[in-house]
Formats: sequence, structure tokens, C-alpha cells
Amino acid sequence: MGIDIQNLTIAKAHKHLKNHDFSAVELTEVFFQKALEKNEKINAYVEFFDDYKEQAKLADKMFVSGDKVTPLTGIPLAIKDNILIEGRKTTASSQMLSNYIATYDATVIKKLKATNAVFLGHANMDEFAMGSSTETSCYGPTRNPHDINRVPGGSSGGSVAAVAMNGALAGLASDTGGSIRQPGSFCGVVGLKPTYGAVSRYGIIAMASSFDQIGPITKTVEDAMLFFEAITGYDPMDSTSITNEIKKNNAKDIKKIYTIGVPTDFVYAEGVDKDVLDNFKVSLENLKKLGHKVEEISLPTLKYSLATYYIIMPAEASTNLARFDGVRYGLKKESNTLLEDYTKTRGEGFGKEVRRRIMLGTYVLSSGYYDAYYNKAVTMRNIIKADFKKAFQSVDTIMMPTSPFPAFKIGEKFNDPLQMYLADIFTVPANLTGLPAISVPSGFAIREEKKLPLGIQFFAPHFQENILFDIGKDLEK
Ligand code: GLN
Repeated sequence: MGIDIQNLTIAKAHKHLKNHDFSAVELTEVFFQKALEKNEKINAYVEFFDDYKEQAKLADKMFVSGDKVTPLTGIPLAIKDNILIEGRKTTASSQMLSNYIATYDATVIKKLKATNAVFLGHANMDEFAMGSSTETSCYGPTRNPHDINRVPGGSSGGSVAAVAMNGALAGLASDTGGSIRQPGSFCGVVGLKPTYGAVSRYGIIAMASSFDQIGPITKTVEDAMLFFEAITGYDPMDSTSITNEIKKNNAKDIKKIYTIGVPTDFVYAEGVDKDVLDNFKVSLENLKKLGHKVEEISLPTLKYSLATYYIIMPAEASTNLARFDGVRYGLKKESNTLLEDYTKTRGEGFGKEVRRRIMLGTYVLSSGYYDAYYNKAVTMRNIIKADFKKAFQSVDTIMMPTSPFPAFKIGEKFNDPLQMYLADIFTVPANLTGLPAISVPSGFAIREEKKLPLGIQFFAPHFQENILFDIGKDLEK
């Protein structure tokens, strides 16, 4: 049977693979060829894996025996370049790690290998996941498949573009401040940031450890659910991983009609494009028609999220990136003294945005400013968390746009970090609070006669991803 690459989903492909309508080798070949063809312009992949057929053959063996087959068996995936795959170059799209070969598999990779999902290649990203446009990569920018003059969003622009250009059926990425959801909305696909602790972080190249979460990028909400189920679970290798019992205790009874909270003051503030707000209103109306209730909520500290994030994130990133000193990993530049070795290695290995964040982070952690910045931000983070907790006493889910604007032009915000950081205004609250959030495609905005995708974002209480899947599916209708 022919493979309808455009309309295929994980759920549909799984049925066909089980029925032997096509094999995993055939499925993988179609996606791989499309990825090769499109990559020339889009630059979604930084490396293709030559053993993709061997991987697919293992999946086909499972389908023949019917043994341990799962919805992800034989599904061709793009993997963000900061998730370790043993024996594969994994660089976080940085010069610093351009010669680094991973020595072990991330836990998520182990799980996916056990079910014989197929890895097509490593996907482009902002250097060390710092950015909202995939322009800071040492491999050059990824382009948005909907308009190649625009960014795909970031930092997981490569994984998202790979799915949007039909160069993978789904993507695996990380979200520290919106890196799955914001590019998802820019490219018209679904992006899920799971609850902090729901998916193991073992084997991800860390950016800001108290925010980082690994999650799926898919074409539908149903696929996001299938993918999430394949990667969630307790992992003793990650001390922040949560046991399944805690998750079960938190999971709510199945309830299909929800009260949706909207932080009206925050959403309808200055700086959000008019067509984004129009699309938000239409989406709300459509959900109401399906029976959901809408309630205005107050989250008075939400407006401090971005400032709080951009203090704690660089603080943690500067600490995490201290390990890249030319001694153990990656790039090594030698000169006259040890100190000079360090400065040369780090000065040449890291790009401008990464250096900016290391300096910012070091500054807010320095003894004279620790209390004034870092400690204050940590206090603020706790207040924001408490605000959300209170809001969730009266609503089941909170809804906002994913981004204040659709995809912007390549170069438009590149030299203006503050403008770039503003792209994350609606996404960082989920990382500050550890809450799960999903971005679901909700329509289009027109810019210069091009249709640019928009996304709507839902938040749920910890470990209640089920609410996100229910309401997300309703929005898809
Ligand atoms: N855009 C945000 C930042 O630059 C988020 C990045 C991410 O989630 N990795 O920090």
C-alpha cells in the first residue's frame, strides 16, 4: 500500500504496521528520503544516521513475532542534538562539543530502543538550547517549512521542522522555557512539556536543571499521548524523577468537561499580536460550544515570570556549563597557562548567546548580588507556584496563547536579546512551576501572503497530563 506521508500519524502508522500494510523498513525509507530532500533548504537535521534501515529491520522482526510491540515500534523519529545516543556525535549544536561522541544512552533513548523506534538523525537546535529561533546553532539556522525566510522557533527548531516537513513522524526534544511548545506553535505541530519529574533527564545535556524536561513533538494530541506514555516513568538515575505511585495518586478521575481558566489581564496585555488574540478568542468560543466552561482567573505574579526565569536559568546554566573547560570534554585550546587554556577554550567554543548567559548567571550568583538577584528570583518562583496552585482550586486547566506572535523573520530578533526573550512570555511559567503544558495548533495568521501557524497552550496541575490530552483533542476538533 502507498504511504500517505502527509496525513500519517503515529496512531495510524501503528495500525498499518500491525496489519502488515507496509513494513517499518518501507515506512522509514519514505520519511528518510523526504528528510534528505527537504533538509537542503530547511536544515532541520545536523546528522543523519546511516543505520536507520537496520533499526527498522529490528522493528519488523517485532511485528512478525508480535512480541512486545508498542505504538512507537518502527516509528521514524528526529532526536534533538542534546539527547545522548551511545556512539553518536551529540553536540548540543555547539562548537564546544563538535567532536563529542556520547558514551551512553539517555534513559529516554534506552526506552525507545527497547521498543525499536527508529532514529533518523540528530536535529538542529539553538546552541545548548539557549534561544527561541534556532539561529544560535553552530550548524547555521533551521528554516520554517511554512516560510523559509522565517525561523521555526527554538530551541528545538530542528526537531519541530523535521516533523513539519514530513522528515520524521515525531520528534524528541527538551523544553527548559518553552523550547518544545513555542517552535511547535510556529510550525503547526503539537508540543508537550511534561510535568517536571515525569520523564527522566538522565542523558540530556543539561541547560538549567530545575527547568529542563524532555518531551514529544507530534502531529496530533493523540500521538503526543502515545509518545509520552512511551517515555514517562521513574528512573533511579535521575534524582528528580517521580515514582509512579505519586503520579497515580495525582491523576484525576476521568472528566471530559472542564473549567478553563483564563488570566485575562495577562493574555490581553500589550505586545500580543491582534490576530493571535482573535485566534485565542475563537478557540475559547469553540471549546465553549463543546460544553467547557470558561472562568476569568487572576494570577497576579504571572507578569514576573519572564524576569524570574531569566535570572534563575542563566544561574543554573552557568553552573552546568562550567564542566566544559577543555580538560575532559570536547574542544581543547592550548596556550601558555592553565587559565589561558580555559579562557581560550571557552571563548572559542561557546557562541555569543551562551557566553552572555554564563556571564549573567555568574553575576547573579556572585557574593555581592546573590541576595539581590538569585535569592529574590527563587522567592518569586515560589510565589508564582503558589499563585498557580490557588488558581487550580477553581479551574481544571489554564489556557493562553503559546506565543505572542507567529514565526518571525530570520535575523529579525537575532541582535536584540530582550526581544528574543519576550517570545517566551507565555511558556516559561510552566517551567518555573514544573506544571505540564501542551501547545496545540489553532489556526493561522497571514504575513506577506504566507499562512503562518498559531498555537494555543494549556496548563494542568502536576501529573495531570490526561487533562491536557482531553482538552487538546477537543481543540483539534
Ligand atoms: N527560549 C528559552 C530560552 O532561551 C527557552 C529555551 C529552552 O526551552 N531550552 O531560554
